[in-house]
Amino acid sequence: CGIVGYVGGQSAQDVVVAGLKRLEYRGYDSAGVAVLADGGLAAAKKAGKLVNLEKELGDRPLPAGRTGIGHTRWATHGAPTDTNAHPHLDNAGRVAVVHNGIIENFAALRRELTGRGHALESETDTEVVSHLLAEAFSAGGDLAEAMRQVCRRLEGAFTLVAVHADQPGVVVGARRNSPLVVGVGQDEWFLASDVAAFIAHTRTAVELGQDQVVELSRQGVVVTGFDGELAEVREYHVDWDASA
Ligand code: GLU
Repeated sequence: CGIVGYVGGQSAQDVVVAGLKRLEYRGYDSAGVAVLADGGLAAAKKAGKLVNLEKELGDRPLPAGRTGIGHTRWATHGAPTDTNAHPHLDNAGRVAVVHNGIIENFAALRRELTGRGHALESETDTEVVSHLLAEAFSAGGDLAEAMRQVCRRLEGAFTLVAVHADQPGVVVGARRNSPLVVGVGQDEWFLASDVAAFIAHTRTAVELGQDQVVELSRQGVVVTGFDGELAEVREYHVDWDASA
């Protein structure tokens, strides 16, 4: 339902949770966050309101990191439980993904992954993506390329945002029939399903086109098609009445 991603100099957990709050008005049944820190990946997710997640983060703080992703879920496949909440990780716990929309061909992909020895723990359509990303990443070592390969196999409507512990400082997003916007700040970058998530930090945005993948890092924004062809990055100014 709501998606936020962050790369920059601030606490990723704080920026992501604040962004999720700005998206609360859309409605949701669970929430989660993942950050890259100290060469690893840490995640927390909770059914219910964002205060439940905040309490969990207060009781068991994640290590401080400056790259992170978060999600508020509106369940379509699988009940609103802690396990079904996003982010979803691979079995090694190195990749985390959040997803809006529906992966129509998830059942076939799930059978395929189970057959290759993956253990999927949720009832969501989303979890196949973290496992597919982990496989594609281990073959090439580049998350954006892994995302392009995986997206070419997916059917349905999706916004996906992912991080990998072996590529710290990088957040990758993709979209088909579901919105995703980049926020370009001063030495910091945002990804969100809605500009409301980052409007407190920047008004410079880049709208992603259909079937595009974006890589955010401290080197800036790189956009390609699912086929890998470089696409133009066109910035625009977000007009937003802060009183609204
Ligand atoms: N289909 C996914 C799920 O049920 C994502 C739902 C959403 O857009 O929040 O977990």
